[in-house]
Amino acid sequence: MPNILFAALTEAWADYETHLRTALDAQGLDYTLATDLPPEGVDYMIYAPNSTVQDFSPFTRLKAVMNLWAGVERVVKNDTLTVPLTRMVDDEGLTQGMVEWVTGHTLRHHLGMDAHIVNPDRTWDDTPPPLSKDRPVTILGMGALGQACAAALGQLGFPVTGWSRSPKSLPFRTTHGADGLREALTGAQIVILLLPDTPATANTLNAETLALPAPGAVILNPGRGPLIDDDALLAALDANIGHATLDTFRTEPLPRDHPFWSHPRVTVTPHIASTTRPDSAARVIAANIARAERGETLHHLVDRASGY
Ligand code: NAP
Repeated sequence: MPNILFAALTEAWADYETHLRTALDAQGLDYTLATDLPPEGVDYMIYAPNSTVQDFSPFTRLKAVMNLWAGVERVVKNDTLTVPLTRMVDDEGLTQGMVEWVTGHTLRHHLGMDAHIVNPDRTWDDTPPPLSKDRPVTILGMGALGQACAAALGQLGFPVTGWSRSPKSLPFRTTHGADGLREALTGAQIVILLLPDTPATANTLNAETLALPAPGAVILNPGRGPLIDDDALLAALDANIGHATLDTFRTEPLPRDHPFWSHPRVTVTPHIASTTRPDSAARVIAANIARAERGETLHHLVDRASGY
């Protein structure tokens, strides 16, 4: 009978407990689930990186840690964690939310909605927006979220290019590696960042790479703040970049005096692009615990060496 510790902020327990019990029961598991268990008796840990657990060494029987978040940068370098770590991949919840945020903000810029929503001079400019087929979109990061967003934007007619670390065969243009980044960014009109925060992805958008997209290009960053060199972005907004819609930042909440808040062509959203939804996330976690109990390999394993 596995002992499962829920190690997240105390207030999250009320959101998750019923969903977790329902999902674990549906897997036919006999278990103990609690927010407080003797460390040496814990088999699985459902974990949020902002929990009080930062030292995993007392958890001597631990078989796996299930991260409630997609991003693992705050736990992946923890040397006291020596058992398998999984990250959150949840098509029904987390992924669907990201698809909606990315599609919404892409269409905002594609259709030039701002000019009609705020039009104090009552200007009658009847220039139609281009069709999606004439708006190349590049997505940096072709993982669970990047691929789902690419599929949704492709469905709407946008020509999508996807960039990743390893080569991919997908039903749209893909590139990979350092050379592939230049190729993917050159001429892009909308650039969407869905990369993890690792040493290798820091400042992926910098002074050199920000010069590659088309004049007036829009940057959407629902990935992580360190993917962009902030100063280079502010400079690029005076050159070829038309707008940046940013959901993630190096420091969160974004400090009130940060120039992004007051820049007329920067939109700040407060890290709400997507979040873990307790009902569907509970099913993902319960299914993975059931796999482990059957001796099967866990889904959504983090590769500790590459940091995601
Ligand atoms: P994922 O499935 O792990 O995909 C990551 C993608 O990035 C993969 O395609 C990977 O390439 C690529 N990549 C990693 N390092 C790279 C490098 N050095 N060069 C080029 N490509 C690289 O992750 P995901 O589930 O899609 O999530 C992506 C990120 O979204 C998360 O890490 C998190 O930071 C962010 N996120 C944000 C929010 C929000 O609310 N703002 C919510 C959820 C997630 P390979 O395919 O070759 O491995």
